[in-house]
Amino acid sequence: MKYIPNPLRYGEMQYRRCGSSGIKLPLISLGLWHNFGKIDDYLNCRNIVHTAFDNGITHFDLANNYGPPPGAAEETFGKIYNQDLKPLRDEIIISSKAGYKMWDGPYGDFGSKKYLVASLDQSLKRMGLDYVDIFYHHRLDPETPLEETMTALDLIVRQGKALYVGISNYPPTEATKAIEILKQLGTPCLIHQARYSMLDRWVENGLLDVLKKEKVGCITFSSLAQGLLTNKYLKGIPEDSRVGRHLENGAISKNQITNEVIGKVKKLNEIAVTRHQTLAQMALAWILKDERITSVILGASKPLQVVDAIGCLKNYHFSKEETDNIEFILK
Ligand code: NDP
Repeated sequence: MKYIPNPLRYGEMQYRRCGSSGIKLPLISLGLWHNFGKIDDYLNCRNIVHTAFDNGITHFDLANNYGPPPGAAEETFGKIYNQDLKPLRDEIIISSKAGYKMWDGPYGDFGSKKYLVASLDQSLKRMGLDYVDIFYHHRLDPETPLEETMTALDLIVRQGKALYVGISNYPPTEATKAIEILKQLGTPCLIHQARYSMLDRWVENGLLDVLKKEKVGCITFSSLAQGLLTNKYLKGIPEDSRVGRHLENGAISKNQITNEVIGKVKKLNEIAVTRHQTLAQMALAWILKDERITSVILGASKPLQVVDAIGCLKNYHFSKEETDNIEFILK
């Protein structure tokens, strides 16, 4: 069936400026780490992407290694893009990354110029794109000099293969250095991508301050703690959930669904109810209440999860009493 995009798609979504750049990102972006591999149903993948775009989600986040197998999510997205979204290219921000192992031998991992340039070429081919909008270095490489990795990002922009660059999972000190090198090269760091949720708050220990000071955007991932911060696991482990599917490569597993965590999640759910929100909506709202956050990348296994997430935009303000109560639960 031919895809006809919703003509009212820009009605509800809100957009925030990414650092001091010219780019605005939707408060909710869609990530394709899980649910877009070879094992997943293509029509469902296509529906998730359509639902996102139809609701003003203009930003799709990928990486070379998303699958399974690695590369498959870019292939799936490429198929959807070429089938449905190609005429809308100028309305869409597409991101990819390199930093984790992609191929055998010494040149398929971490942060060398050789790896980053080759990997982006492969990503572009898989997605059928001429360029990505944002290209990230996915994780800090403890061995390659930061200058080499950042020079590779600068080169990629000068080659026209990416419009903007970012870093992901960099601790505050290294992020500061990378931002400075990129500034000197004339290709400013657009954005930092970091894990941040009510259950994982490492970015509050310096990183968010660095990004604010440097006027670099911040986009968060796993802000639903991979589904833990929803009502999904309150009554056991559904078979079709991320935990129930026994996925690998960093997916949450059964041993993380402890009584202690579920106890907290139940209490958080009670607060969400008083706010007339689902727990997923409250978890996303809790991130977006901080103006330093440009966007949250949502993972979704079903179109309805995208719709649920967007509902958080109705209220991402918290009273002092609400934040105090949440802090008390999380303590
Ligand atoms: P989330 O914390 O958003 O978890 C997504 C999962 O939560 C979904 O797949 C679904 O799981 C469940 N879920 C979502 N909405 C709902 C809902 N309304 N009700 C119930 N369950 C829901 O994020 P991810 O961990 O998936 O990460 C999001 C994106 O961030 C990735 O796709 C990727 O683009 C990026 N990322 C970046 C990383 C990096 O190193 N830079 C690392 C990890 C992610 P289920 O399958 O159980 O339905």
